[in-house]
Amino acid sequence: MAVTRTFSIIKPDATRRNLTGAVTKMLEEAGLRVIASKRIQMTREQAEGFYGVHRERPFFNDLVTFMTSGPVVVQVLEGEDAVKRNRDIMGATNPTNAEPGTIRKELAESIEANSVHGSDSDENAKIEIDFFFKPEEIVG
Ligand code: AMP
Repeated sequence: MAVTRTFSIIKPDATRRNLTGAVTKMLEEAGLRVIASKRIQMTREQAEGFYGVHRERPFFNDLVTFMTSGPVVVQVLEGEDAVKRNRDIMGATNPTNAEPGTIRKELAESIEANSVHGSDSDENAKIEIDFFFKPEEIVG
């Protein structure tokens, strides 16, 4: 299995509850390595750009408002089959449907305040990493 990269966001509901370390511990224990990390206040423009594919969805405005409601931690994660590994440890989008032991089942509040984002493909991981990080900020 190839070592690949994925992009993660620890969302405002998690930073607000001081869960940055708890989330990161679960990522690390799942075999992922944090090779870039920064805590930022996302601007509305950044959030709208990042979630551009959801622009027509009914939850788009609320999602952008939520993602700009407090600090987030953006991260690049590396590991074997990183996109899938990260999605497995995140659990289902709606924490109600997430498996026990996943980040969303154990820590998330709701389908919107679901604690973490993770890329859904290698292609999107590259786009999302490039959206938030310069190459020199990634130290593998
Ligand atoms: P994704 O691009 O898969 O990360 O989805 C973006 C985010 O939108 C999800 O992580 C949720 O926080 C949010 N989201 C997805 N579906 C809904 C929904 N039906 N209602 C509210 N928020 C949603």
